[in-house]
Amino acid sequence: MNSDKSSLINNTIPYQADILIVEDQLDNLRLLSNILSKKGYQVRQAIDGEMALIAIETTPPDLVLLDLKIPYLNGYEVCQQLKAKETTSSIPVIFLSAFDQLWEKIKAFALGGVDYISKPYQAPEVLARVENQIKLSLLQKQLKAKNSQLERQLYLTQEVQKFHSQPQVDAYLLHKAIAATSNGIVITDATQADHPIVYANPGFEKMTGYSLEEIKGKNCRFLQGIDRDQPGIRKMKICLKDGHQCNVTVRNYRKDGSMFWNEVSLSPVKDELGKVIYHIGVQTDITERKRIEEEKYRYEASVRQMNQELQELNNKLHRLANLDGLTEVANRRCFDDCLEQEWRRLSRENKPLSLILGDIDYFKLYNDTYGHLKGDDCLKQVAKAMGRGVHRPADLVARFGGEEFVVILPNTDSPGAVEVAKNILQEIRVLKIPHEESAAQSYVTMSLGVATIIPNLELPSKILVDRADQCLFSAKKQGRDRMMINC
Ligand code: GH3
Ligand code: MG
Ligand code: MG
Repeated sequence: MNSDKSSLINNTIPYQADILIVEDQLDNLRLLSNILSKKGYQVRQAIDGEMALIAIETTPPDLVLLDLKIPYLNGYEVCQQLKAKETTSSIPVIFLSAFDQLWEKIKAFALGGVDYISKPYQAPEVLARVENQIKLSLLQKQLKAKNSQLERQLYLTQEVQKFHSQPQVDAYLLHKAIAATSNGIVITDATQADHPIVYANPGFEKMTGYSLEEIKGKNCRFLQGIDRDQPGIRKMKICLKDGHQCNVTVRNYRKDGSMFWNEVSLSPVKDELGKVIYHIGVQTDITERKRIEEEKYRYEASVRQMNQELQELNNKLHRLANLDGLTEVANRRCFDDCLEQEWRRLSRENKPLSLILGDIDYFKLYNDTYGHLKGDDCLKQVAKAMGRGVHRPADLVARFGGEEFVVILPNTDSPGAVEVAKNILQEIRVLKIPHEESAAQSYVTMSLGVATIIPNLELPSKILVDRADQCLFSAKKQGRDRMMINC
């Protein structure tokens, strides 16, 4: 399309407006096309509504000549769809028809048509109406462009006014401030190729070791040396391209080659048309800050590590202090503590506490027959089996000493304790650890004494152990591999 649209307004060179004719009668289509192309217009054709909409959508024309009676979608429907879409709503539509009825014209205008041409076509009328609409449409476009230009100017004026309304600082003072700051300040010229440095303050010279004379006219990238592949540099490049302000931290290198971390705040300076003309970079050497941060991070990590090791050591110590080394169930010390604690707690709550004391039958004979190491192994298996016999988290299996074990069952009455004792006997029996010399069975068995009491702070907890021991003694006496209760 000819770009000099104003030529038409000035009536000089004819502007080659793009006109779409939508008409299904081919002789009419040809006639209109001839009239308009002779006058220098670019003419496109469509013979039905759907084709017209596709043509308009693909390349919006400057004007549509739209026949009312066309196949698929009639002229009114095509116009309606055009006006409903933001991208095509401003394209002027001139309706074509015989217009036998007055309401047809009224409807055409009501739907957004700007004019109509009656059939049969008269060349001068067609040209006059088309030219009129093209001119009007161009004027509208120019008006719109002017309007946005004015809006922009108004914005800039307001910005300038805002600036002037602030208290003015003497330029000399500003210069002094820039010279006094320890931050580096660099100004580059964005209108010249490769954005050369036009100014660097003393702070920058001190920070980098370069003098202004040495770097004037150069691009700032010399500060990166060969260390270009940095996320901060990538971000900076995007901001430079888009004309945005950005803050990044990058590795830079002083004149003496030493690396420093540079926190850069990069701001574009724009002219009244919004074009970036300078970049101001305010730079801070944060190497020391980074070093302290990294040291702090390392320190915190080692403290975390030490804490974890300490915790593990504590757990180990706790285990060592409370577990029996051979069988890994609670040791005697742990049993004593636990019994005391439960004794006090349950006497306060007035609830039952049960105790099961167990002793492996004929264990001396076992050792004599199979050896001490096998004996140790047997103790381990028995301890595990006892653990399987209890179920509540508060229940505690402990090694009482030698081949004797004890189970504390807090908050458990007699029937409950009997239940647990049965479980334990059964778990040990099913191990079927061979014990040929035992007079009780051909495998390892255990005798249990079970006692239950509601603890009383005036009595010692030992009383419960003694009762369980009496029952154990009784179980032994009665033939072993059994339990006795409340003897
Ligand atoms: P009873 O049926 O009357 O209980 O007979 P017993 O042989 O089991 O009882 P006794 O008290 O005479 O013997 C207990 C044996 O347990 C003696 C001891 O050598 C053994 N014993 C104690 N502690 C350990 C241990 O840690 N490992 C091994 N292998 N044996 C142990
Ligand atoms: Mg014993
Ligand atoms: Mg024994």
